[in-house]
Amino acid sequence: MTRTLGALTLALLALTRQAPADAPDQFYDSHFHLTNYIQQGITPQQFLQIMGTRVGRSTLFGIPLQQQWSYNNSGEFAPTYYLQSDAPLYYYSFTDAYIAAVYTKLPAAERTRFDPMITGFNPADMYAVDHIKRVLTTFPGVFSGIGEFSIHKEFVSSKVSGETASLTNPALDRILDFAAESGLVVILHSDIDMPFSKVDAEPVYLTQMKSLLKRHSRTSIIWAHTGLGRVVHPASVSAESAERPPNHIEIVQAMLADPALAHVNFDISWDEVAKYAVSSPETAARTAALLNKYPDRFLFGTDTVAPSGPAPYYAVFDMWAPVFRQLTPDASFKVRKGNYTRIFDEGRRRVRDWEKAHVS
Ligand SMILES: [Zn+2]
Repeated sequence: MTRTLGALTLALLALTRQAPADAPDQFYDSHFHLTNYIQQGITPQQFLQIMGTRVGRSTLFGIPLQQQWSYNNSGEFAPTYYLQSDAPLYYYSFTDAYIAAVYTKLPAAERTRFDPMITGFNPADMYAVDHIKRVLTTFPGVFSGIGEFSIHKEFVSSKVSGETASLTNPALDRILDFAAESGLVVILHSDIDMPFSKVDAEPVYLTQMKSLLKRHSRTSIIWAHTGLGRVVHPASVSAESAERPPNHIEIVQAMLADPALAHVNFDISWDEVAKYAVSSPETAARTAALLNKYPDRFLFGTDTVAPSGPAPYYAVFDMWAPVFRQLTPDASFKVRKGNYTRIFDEGRRRVRDWEKAHVS
């Protein structure tokens, strides 16, 4: 009886800690795509309707890649997603001009709610950094960062026309060096592992990713989705494993504890990531414990792409309820809003300073 009452009290405490579903200014969105793989989407005005009073601020970016509609491949069928065609994807730099154009048309009060991001560069091109500088000098006063851009991404990297991006390419080092110089916040997507990898093996890209991050300790970097993907599962261990390799939560925890990676934060965006986090009560509890231990290092984001209305947009946030209700008030606030404010305000301030010094 006492145990049941105790459990009930805990559950009630957890419930009261949770803000009501439509609480005002509930979260900021660190990962949001206004447009899709064929550069279509919703307007900022439509997004503001969805945000209402529930979402105070959001990042604003398109997708740097365009799916080609190849008549030879799909005939009259017009693909809208990269899995719907064998034709390649290509870098569509106009996305940056588009984002700047729709952002600058907004009234000032609405502009302050958005952090537009530059994405339309090829991270395998030594000239990518020149594109980023050109965007800043052409549209001063607009952008807070770069990304989400991708290096390793399941099913996508191999479809991009031209040279495949790599974590060891000096072109990427140049981009991250310039982000340090200018203050641009970086949202980097790079899968930690290959799709359908073996159980009991270290994720293949982990070592390269860590050394890249360590080479750029002055850059403010957000590792999107903590390196997970739709089929890039959290590292798992077989029952027969003699030497037990770390699982995903342990890998992230080790990175958080490493002083050489203090400049790296993680976004917990994408419903695919939420699915892993809430897949069992045990995983939800372990995820919450990690967020409580390192409350300054995680940002919530939806990773929705041009959502058609509030339902698909808020579904991602609501999926996290089993984790959020186990967070301390401090961790909950920081993951939903506090870290966003700290990181993106600093980005805005520093990029405006860089522009002042470089735009005549
Ligand atoms: Zn992503």
